[in-house]
Amino acid sequence: MKSIPDRLKALKKNIQEYEQCFNRPKNSVKLLAVSKKQSVDSIKLAYESGQHAFGENYLQEAIGKIHHFTEKDISWHFIGKIQSNKTIAIAENFDWVHTIEREKIAFRLNEHRAKMKKVLNVLIQVNISGEESKSGVSLEAFPQMVACVKAFRWLRLRGVMGMPAQYDSFKLQCKSFVPLMDAINLHQPKFDSLSIGTSQDYKAAIAVGSTMVRIGEGLFGPRKN
Ligand SMILES: *Cc1c(COP(=O)(O)O)cnc(C)c1O
Repeated sequence: MKSIPDRLKALKKNIQEYEQCFNRPKNSVKLLAVSKKQSVDSIKLAYESGQHAFGENYLQEAIGKIHHFTEKDISWHFIGKIQSNKTIAIAENFDWVHTIEREKIAFRLNEHRAKMKKVLNVLIQVNISGEESKSGVSLEAFPQMVACVKAFRWLRLRGVMGMPAQYDSFKLQCKSFVPLMDAINLHQPKFDSLSIGTSQDYKAAIAVGSTMVRIGEGLFGPRKN
């Protein structure tokens, strides 16, 4: 089996190739290493190989790991579902939140970051394919949520996060992102961050305009449950 440093190198090479292939500016696509259910040692290995941005889904698990890192140049992204009683801890431990889908959550995160006097980078999660099992605001509710989040002084709305239905072919994967791209172009073309693409579909995500691909098992190997 390949090592984490080897996989990281290969992933970065792929990302660069896809940037070139799809006429994206060099270094316009960042890698977010999704470290949920991965060990502190694995995260350290990735960090030492130059990976400094990590995504976590489960708050308790994440806090247990984040405390092992005191480096200033590491950033933590919350990419899981948010319960409102967890917002203080999320505000205290994370630099980015990708999964804003309710005004109440935005309100509470803003309140806590106001006390810290520190702006929080946020993305609105959009339920691109309209699947009932998936989180995120609908495409119809998206413009209203943009207006809502923008009004909070201590939240910096950077863009959108999405996870479409899964398809096997590159063509269908690209197509699945189109409604989201249309909504962004219509309502908020000035966003600088688009968090789409996982191990399965990051090539298609880069083709359509992703700026942040969220890759877990493709970097760390299978998750331990
Ligand atoms: C787990 C997860 C990922 C990473 O998925 P992989 O298949 O391991 O690349 C990306 N985004 C979100 C929101 C996740 O929960």
